[in-house]
Amino acid sequence: MANYELNLAHLYGNLLNTYGDNGNLLTLNYYAKQMGIQIHSEIVSIYQEFDPDKYDFVFIGGGQDYEQVIVSKDIQTKKEDLTRYIENNGVLLSICGGYQLLGHYYIGANGEKIEGIGALDHYTLSQDNHRFIGDIEIHNEEFGETYYGFENHNGRTFLGKGERPLGTIVKGNGNNGEDQGEGVIYKNVYGSYFHGPILARNKSLAVRLLHTALKNKYGESVELPQLP
Ligand code: GLN
Repeated sequence: MANYELNLAHLYGNLLNTYGDNGNLLTLNYYAKQMGIQIHSEIVSIYQEFDPDKYDFVFIGGGQDYEQVIVSKDIQTKKEDLTRYIENNGVLLSICGGYQLLGHYYIGANGEKIEGIGALDHYTLSQDNHRFIGDIEIHNEEFGETYYGFENHNGRTFLGKGERPLGTIVKGNGNNGEDQGEGVIYKNVYGSYFHGPILARNKSLAVRLLHTALKNKYGESVELPQLP
């Protein structure tokens, strides 16, 4: 019997799913069950409304530039509601293309400007005939945690106001290959270029996200279930 319930929106789950990003939801469910949490998830895709009051957790995966262009147009209609969700401390995990679209824009591999929603202050440039591909390892000083993944992206992301990286590069390229940062944390929004999927390889991050969502829903004093 589940003691807790969380409602999850899988944004554009039928469009953004490179390198098995959907696996993040499989693992999240796997951990949640062992912690007595029942997750009710549904895809919220193009032409569908995103209700910021309905969800305790939002996940958005990565995509190729082609799918990103489609999502870029639709996500503008959800900009206000998503921004409200984020500013109200909603938990959100975004990977790669999804992470890029939460920022101002992404210059695609062909040089086209793909608009984001600017809910977060980063922007993403492209690189000429090159991608950052390979195993990656980062360390988060604040949490004392090390995360492992696989990156594959053209975009080079630069963080802005109120944003801090998810971790410092131990191995790999990260956000832009220049400033040693990988991913982002803004309020309860997490972004990363990690595929793998990130939650399957980094259990501590999954538990952190679930705990934050439980505190949001049931109050700060909720008894936080541990993962056996
Ligand atoms: N199309 C984007 C890029 O190449 C995102 C890729 C992804 O989501 N894996 O940077």
